[in-house]
Amino acid sequence: MIYTDTRNNKVKASFRTAVLNGMNSETGGLYIPTIFPKLDSSFINKNPEPTFRDVAFNMAKPYVEGEIPDEDLMDIIQDAYPFPAKTVPLDKTAYVLELFHGPTCAFKDFGARFMARVMSYFNRTENGTLHILVATSGDTGSAVGSAFHNVPGLDVTILYPEGKISKIQEKQLSTFTGNVRALKVKGTFDDCQKLVKTAFTDAELRKEFRLSSANSINISRLLPQSFYYMYSSLVVRNRAPLDNKMDNPAIICVVPSGNFGNLTSGLIAKEMGAPIAGFVAATNTNKTIPDWIATGEYNARPSVETYANAMDVGAPSNYERIKAMYSLEDVRRIFGSYWLDNDGIKAAIADCNSRTGYTIDPHGSIGWKAWDDIRNGGFAKLKSGIKGDISKPGLTPNLPEWADQVINNNAVGIILETAHPAKFGSIVQDATGREPPIPEALQAVMALPDMATPMENDYETFKAWLKANLAK
Ligand SMILES: *Cc1c(COP(=O)(O)O)cnc(C)c1O
Repeated sequence: MIYTDTRNNKVKASFRTAVLNGMNSETGGLYIPTIFPKLDSSFINKNPEPTFRDVAFNMAKPYVEGEIPDEDLMDIIQDAYPFPAKTVPLDKTAYVLELFHGPTCAFKDFGARFMARVMSYFNRTENGTLHILVATSGDTGSAVGSAFHNVPGLDVTILYPEGKISKIQEKQLSTFTGNVRALKVKGTFDDCQKLVKTAFTDAELRKEFRLSSANSINISRLLPQSFYYMYSSLVVRNRAPLDNKMDNPAIICVVPSGNFGNLTSGLIAKEMGAPIAGFVAATNTNKTIPDWIATGEYNARPSVETYANAMDVGAPSNYERIKAMYSLEDVRRIFGSYWLDNDGIKAAIADCNSRTGYTIDPHGSIGWKAWDDIRNGGFAKLKSGIKGDISKPGLTPNLPEWADQVINNNAVGIILETAHPAKFGSIVQDATGREPPIPEALQAVMALPDMATPMENDYETFKAWLKANLAK
């Protein structure tokens, strides 16, 4: 596979280069495959569907062709995914895709574990330590830290916004030792991301250290996230006719989004032939993308703190990739979009719990409410000419090409549950009256001491710290 760049389509890079560089320091652009090859229809049409690992192998293969042999790729996938991506029905037209069964209880384990194994594979033939810098709005840091912990030749520095992530999240990423460490930055997630991006474009620093990113700007994190979209859409396509007696319903993936890496991975799965009719971008008050879809104007802005803190992103990195793949008109055909404020999030958690018995986390709750409003007349209202108001929480005034299938009751939603509700126990308890039981993986880290180093939100201070503390 040849990779190019979102800012200069003359760039040609291998998978190895794209993975090890993270982003293109010469252009500031993001790597992107030149094509998204379709899987064989005989593979996609299997009923029962292939296993998750089988899907993962077949989807990854074209992107690593000529650079990772099949047996090694199979080993990487077997080793990365000892846990499932579970599709759970909530009712006749809503499914939850549980992506929290990995070691850090959020969907980011799917991307981070593949990326760590691929980086380590390529780094075997390089000299010296590869330094991963990663900014996190909550769950990336722990997924990346956990995936890279004790991997020889790799070293991880995590930046997170002090006081702006949940207690469990902070414990998860500030308690690593050895080759993984955390910096608590006096600023927002966007500030953390800017520090990392500035470091990548700093030629002097790059001369001294081999640097790479582990944010969703890294293509090796984005590609594996497409596996579970393909897999769950095949599961739902095969079981929906039995569950709800619909013939060939439109499958809509509802994606709680912040940096839009997850949703971009969904677009890749659709390009590769997944039976997905469209997507709903579900955000919190950081509604840069819903506003863009509604108005056509893209205005990145400072991030605002919310209960769904892993989505507190005002300047989503993957906007640039979405724009490289699609025009605004394409996006409006494919995407519904929806946002909720904090009161709405709490009400949505309570509503999901009382109506379905399912305990959903604050991020997933926006997806639940988005899908529930859409299927209960949201699109019909827009179609009848009632103008939505984008300054108010709810559905963005945009009718995607699949709207009629929803209006005609021939659509099912797959709501991506991006984290385990116990990671946000106090909000969930407020909403439902019960604290969700804490999974074992999370209980273990609660007992460990906090090792994070305080850091000013200032590039020169950050750079000096890196020069003084990172191994050459
Ligand atoms: C990271 C994260 C998101 C947002 O994913 P993006 O790829 O940044 O859009 C949503 N929910 C949870 C729980 C997350 O950790």
